[in-house]
Amino acid sequence: MSLRPTLDFLLYDWLGAERLNQRERFADHNRETFDAVLDTCERIAREKFAPFNRLVDTQEPQFDGEKVILPQATHDARLAYAESGMLSAAQDDDIGGMQLPFLVESAANTFFAKASISIGSNLLTTGNANLLMAHGTELQKQVFALNEFNGRFTGTMCLSEPQAGSSLSDVVTRAVPDGDGHETDPLGPRYRLTGNKMWISSGDHELAENIVHLVLAKIPGADGKPVPGVKGISLFIVPKHLVDTDGRLTGERNDVALAGLNHKLGWRGTTNTLLNFGEGKYPVRGGAGAIGYLVGKPGEGLRCMFHMMNEARIAIGMAATMLGYAGYEASLDYARNRPQGRPMGAAGKDPAQPQVRIIEHADVKRMLLAQKSYSEGALALALYGARLIDEQHTGTTEAADEARLLLEVLTPIIKSWPSEFCLEANSLAIQIHGGYGYTRDFAVEQYWRDNRLNMIHEGTHGIQAMDLLGRKVLMENGRGLQLLAARINATIERAIQVPDLAAHANALGQALQAVGAATKAAWATANPTEALANAVPYMQAFGHTVLAWVWLDVALVAHAAVASPARQGRLAAARYFFHYELPRIGAWLQVVRERDLTCAELPDDAF
Ligand SMILES: Cc1cc2nc3c(=O)[nH]c(=O)nc-3n(C[C@H](O)[C@H](O)[C@H](O)COP(=O)(O)OP(=O)(O)OC[C@H]3O[C@@H](n4cnc5c(N)ncnc54)[C@H](O)[C@@H]3O)c2cc1C
Repeated sequence: MSLRPTLDFLLYDWLGAERLNQRERFADHNRETFDAVLDTCERIAREKFAPFNRLVDTQEPQFDGEKVILPQATHDARLAYAESGMLSAAQDDDIGGMQLPFLVESAANTFFAKASISIGSNLLTTGNANLLMAHGTELQKQVFALNEFNGRFTGTMCLSEPQAGSSLSDVVTRAVPDGDGHETDPLGPRYRLTGNKMWISSGDHELAENIVHLVLAKIPGADGKPVPGVKGISLFIVPKHLVDTDGRLTGERNDVALAGLNHKLGWRGTTNTLLNFGEGKYPVRGGAGAIGYLVGKPGEGLRCMFHMMNEARIAIGMAATMLGYAGYEASLDYARNRPQGRPMGAAGKDPAQPQVRIIEHADVKRMLLAQKSYSEGALALALYGARLIDEQHTGTTEAADEARLLLEVLTPIIKSWPSEFCLEANSLAIQIHGGYGYTRDFAVEQYWRDNRLNMIHEGTHGIQAMDLLGRKVLMENGRGLQLLAARINATIERAIQVPDLAAHANALGQALQAVGAATKAAWATANPTEALANAVPYMQAFGHTVLAWVWLDVALVAHAAVASPARQGRLAAARYFFHYELPRIGAWLQVVRERDLTCAELPDDAF
């Protein structure tokens, strides 16, 4: 089954996307306008992205000492994406947007993610501009955000430093006021930044007129020293080329220098950079120091940045999902065409018979169904998350608040679960290809390499797990977890009425109880060291429970549909998930419940 029918089913049959046009913000839309966007994106992805996925992998970005050189295909793909209007799809009509629901925007972006995850830097550009729309001044929106939406500029997020990855409170990039009148610069309070930012995606290239870096840095306190902890972090716009208040380039190069490109395992179509801010390579307005404009208030940098990070986390989950999906499609196609082996009959194998296609072997079907249940389940979850974002923006006060809290709890799962299990899907796709899957003659090894990033960036797996168990399930007296449990229970109540699904409903009820009990047991001693020692197994069990819920909810809609191969496939994927996957949570939760310290207590020298 190709992606489009799956998307149509999830969007319209499961999530009722067309009902969104009852909301004032989306009143000009209907199923036809949504479909038109999906059609356009599907076509651009097919023509401008998919054919070049291998090329951008083999022709890595090169730095000639002056400029970063990318294949022409990357320029063409970015231009086609910008011209499609997708950079501003969710924005207001009057600033050139389409007022498209985030749900439909996310669905449309799946085509690009599946065709070539690394060609564009579009998700960073949109996320950067969205942050400025939420926290920037009117002029910062006009000059920077709108020029990102219209494709003139691209955006980055500059958080990490060589010595500060997971622990952002340890960033040491400094920002000091830039001379007289720094407070009254129309583009925002003006500072000079010095420091190094590591791993910056799309940090340098010639794809657009300008690059808008959003940089976390510390303003020294009265004693001249950086304020310790996250409270000392502020956020700055640091354009690669300086601009005037009309957004025109002034001709001055800002003091941001590319120190080098990182050479990555995958995701090679996107440059990844070490950037030196303010080292004096490009002295500007008479001195060293990169010019940056404060966004929001001093000390609120991380809070503002979370606007972009939360969006990016959902987008990363979707990226991981679509890589899983791409591998599923590729291995399904391979399995349908590769003859190998003969079926085992009651009297053994008959060598006189022709070979069968490998899709006829039970173990290959197992690997296909696993991939289907991971990638289509993750896709459903990510779209559910996108629908919650629309609810947060356009629902009643109460519904919006519920959506906000549900997103708090679900975001670590939407980011991390596909990063782990759609990577596993990619591994199974390689396995189905046998030896051929281990070569560069087939696409599946690239999908695996590209996907391997997703458990690392935007908060590693370990950090996401601690966020879930250490913060999200506890916040607001556990109300987010209760809201999620209420939704899961509502699905269980409906499914229990359907004889074919009742056993799944019971299994999900038990899983939910087990997650609740493990959450309490983890915190029973109120000791974070004990509670969080097994945060990753907790997140795995939590994620599997959420996915089982999603599959049961999807199965309810599939079950009510007329018979078709697609219906049969969806119900089988749900069954697979309940029979082969959900039981795994027992082992994960046991160590959480028992606050097992086998790993935590082992001293360094015993390894
Ligand atoms: C290709 C790529 C693109 C990226 N793009 C960007 C970007 O555009 N902008 C940006 O700012 N950053 C970017 N990053 C950086 C990325 O977010 C960091 O790599 C990530 O946050 C981890 O930081 P680190 O690499 O320093 O690893 P570390 O923080 O050193 O972590 C190493 C290991 O230790 C674990 N660990 C660390 N602290 C703890 C703890 N307290 N408890 C338990 N375990 C812990 C981690 O989970 C991890 O497994 C990118 C990275 C890559 C590889």
